[in-house]
Amino acid sequence: MEVTKRPFDINILVRENIRKMKPYSSARDEFSGEADVFLDANENPYPTPFNRYPDPLQWSVKEALAPVKGVRSGQIFLGNGSDEAIDLLIRAFCEPRRDAILITEPTYGMYSVCANVNAVEIISTTLDTNFDIDLDQFPSLDNPALKLIFLCSPNNPSANLLNREAIISLLERFRGLVVVDEAYIDFTSAPSFTQDLDRYPNLVVLQTFSKAWGLAGLRLGMAFASPEIIGVLNKIKYPYNVNIRTQELALETLAKRSQKEQWVKEILAERNRLVEALKSLHMTKKVFPSEANFVLVKMTDAPGTYKKLMNLGIIVRDRSSVKLCDNCLRITVGTPQENDRLIKTLSSH
Ligand code: PMP
Repeated sequence: MEVTKRPFDINILVRENIRKMKPYSSARDEFSGEADVFLDANENPYPTPFNRYPDPLQWSVKEALAPVKGVRSGQIFLGNGSDEAIDLLIRAFCEPRRDAILITEPTYGMYSVCANVNAVEIISTTLDTNFDIDLDQFPSLDNPALKLIFLCSPNNPSANLLNREAIISLLERFRGLVVVDEAYIDFTSAPSFTQDLDRYPNLVVLQTFSKAWGLAGLRLGMAFASPEIIGVLNKIKYPYNVNIRTQELALETLAKRSQKEQWVKEILAERNRLVEALKSLHMTKKVFPSEANFVLVKMTDAPGTYKKLMNLGIIVRDRSSVKLCDNCLRITVGTPQENDRLIKTLSSH
């Protein structure tokens, strides 16, 4: 495929109404510095201790996170889960009823949900039988309505990494944004695309505290991109989108990173054990290779196995109705005890 470099201009890409609008300016946006009497935000003055609004741009979390991720703090957006960033990207860059996003199926469901909510067309291409990008079958990148390509690597639900060269080829040829969703990046030894941000002005990388960091209930997601793209997301987000407790706990978590590393080590060891056990079951047709904290397994009768497990109090995800995932269950790696119970239950059926 011929590679042609195209100029990238954020001001052309962003929706006109968003480029022209004046963002909401909160009390905490307008004052930054040292003071001890705050009568600017109509808060209750009595410490609850949540009587004050949080920092709208979460600078202390970003400053702690930047060295961990090898990026600059101005390249970070924090949101209410990475789902917030997915929605904001579509709202900022896709004109309802005119523009489109591209997804590579099977993939994470929220790209389509957010596109549908925002009346944005979904152009879908199917991954190949190894769940990888097939550039020869890829839809045209010259479609002027196409603004965002969502790539999930490691991919949910197939658990594999997408081919790095294919992603780079798209970054080089597409004049819209390429969003690489790395929610499961901590479970693979492959490098993150965050290290390529300075090379590709149209790159957005999504990560989350919901998986390896063990904070799904807190709701804290990350987007990494150029300061221009981050500026657009900040312009349209809710003023105080990440609450005080979440910011505090994120700081505490970043200060003790060894806990996350220990969990990842244990989950990877358990993943290997689970894969081997699943392979030995008579109802297993194939265990797909995993670079994530879950495995996709093709069964002889996935809906039946799902129901049996459910009746015994073990919930996995039946992905049978998803493209390329006929008769497949998606199974999250649990604790050693949970995995034992799953394996024992499956072996006795
Ligand atoms: N991306 C992928 C690929 C996911 O699987 C998930 C959650 N299942 C998310 C993003 C959203 O994560 P969160 O909103 O919890 O950060």
